[in-house]
Amino acid sequence: MKAADLHLHTRFSDGTYAPDELVGHAQRHQLGALALTDHDTVEGCEPAAAACRPLGIEFIAGTELTAEWEGNELHILGYFIDTHDALLLRELARFQTVRQDRIREMVARLNQLHIPLQAQTVFALANCRSPGRPHVGRALVQAGYCVNLDEAFDRFLKKNRPAWVPKCKISALHAIELVHHAGGLAVMAHPGLNRTDGVIPELVAAGLDGLECFHTKHNPATTEHYLQLAAHFHLLVTGGSDCHGMSKGKPLIGSVKLPYPYVEHLKARLAEKRPAPGPGPAAPADALPPPS
Ligand code: AMP
Ligand code: ZN
Ligand code: FE
Ligand code: FE
Repeated sequence: MKAADLHLHTRFSDGTYAPDELVGHAQRHQLGALALTDHDTVEGCEPAAAACRPLGIEFIAGTELTAEWEGNELHILGYFIDTHDALLLRELARFQTVRQDRIREMVARLNQLHIPLQAQTVFALANCRSPGRPHVGRALVQAGYCVNLDEAFDRFLKKNRPAWVPKCKISALHAIELVHHAGGLAVMAHPGLNRTDGVIPELVAAGLDGLECFHTKHNPATTEHYLQLAAHFHLLVTGGSDCHGMSKGKPLIGSVKLPYPYVEHLKARLAEKRPAPGPGPAAPADALPPPS
């Protein structure tokens, strides 16, 4: 059966693959559909879509917005978004500026610790508009201050470590609104990592469309728990590997293969939300198989 991976990162945020490399890996893993969900950016979507086209891989434009609700960080995935939506692009540009300022602040803290790293070095290495802690970590490794990314996070970048700077986060409600404004579906990413079940009813009331039940870091019990919650709240179910390329050791692409009927469910919901002229896709049958 055709399979999808709906959670992937490229160099346009903190992944290591260029969009065409990522798509090459998707092809090797026999994925028939993929969504690119870089953090707070949609820059990779056009090149990824172009790389998918000749291979016959279906491309879904996406993003992963860093959000918060009552002090807890959570990530909102947007799927089938219009990557030219003016409001979304304006807000993304704002987040990107804040991310760049945050890099300067992290570097300043490292400088206070007598690590003479320069912000410019991190920006050159990141070479994207949405830089983050992994780029600072890679710069530390490259300059020989840490042996690997884990050490960089453990010593400097993890929450409450000396170079940690909190990230500006938008409210989850605003994130959902932005995704909807761009014509997309809003899905709570890896709920099992955030453990913010308490907020789900409020987000559902705000229009949340789905839960990412299948994720590399969800064990079977966690997956089952969120499948039940999704059923309870009539939410769509999504899944993906959250592959960042080589940045966390082994590339995760291929580790979650979402059966294609889940994608059909997303499209059917989308068609209900934005009725198009002519017959839309028929709502698929309800019982869906688990990912392989
Ligand atoms: P940021 O968005 O700048 O706060 O960075 C978050 C990114 O750092 C996410 O992709 C995380 O998966 C990654 N990250 C968090 N902890 C670690 C770690 N110990 N080693 C490598 N990457 C990490
Ligand atoms: Zn990431
Ligand atoms: Fe995430
Ligand atoms: Fe992610």
